[in-house]
Amino acid sequence: MALIHCAACGKRISSKAPHCPHCQHSLSSDPEAVERAQRIRNIRNEQKLMNHSFLALFLFVGGFAIWWWGGEANENWRQPVGVGSMVLGFLGYLVTRARIILSRRQR
Ligand SMILES: [Zn+2]
Repeated sequence: MALIHCAACGKRISSKAPHCPHCQHSLSSDPEAVERAQRIRNIRNEQKLMNHSFLALFLFVGGFAIWWWGGEANENWRQPVGVGSMVLGFLGYLVTRARIILSRRQR
């Protein structure tokens, strides 16, 4: 028994299984079905990355809002929290953008 990667979800499964136990993808040798499953996987992956980049952007904007409407200097917890969220959101956004570009280039 060998372990192969499911064409649809990418998880490791037995080569003798009739279908993937994780996503129920049928392990037929029909190349058209395999290609279709891969396309669906790519689209799902891209949607996930888009959600991540949206979340990162939201974190950045939220951090900026906290920092901007921070009020008086004695409420100075707002500044590190706001700046921290901005930095995290910005870095997260950059990383997800890079991952989107890389996943597109792999096709
Ligand atoms: Zn699968």
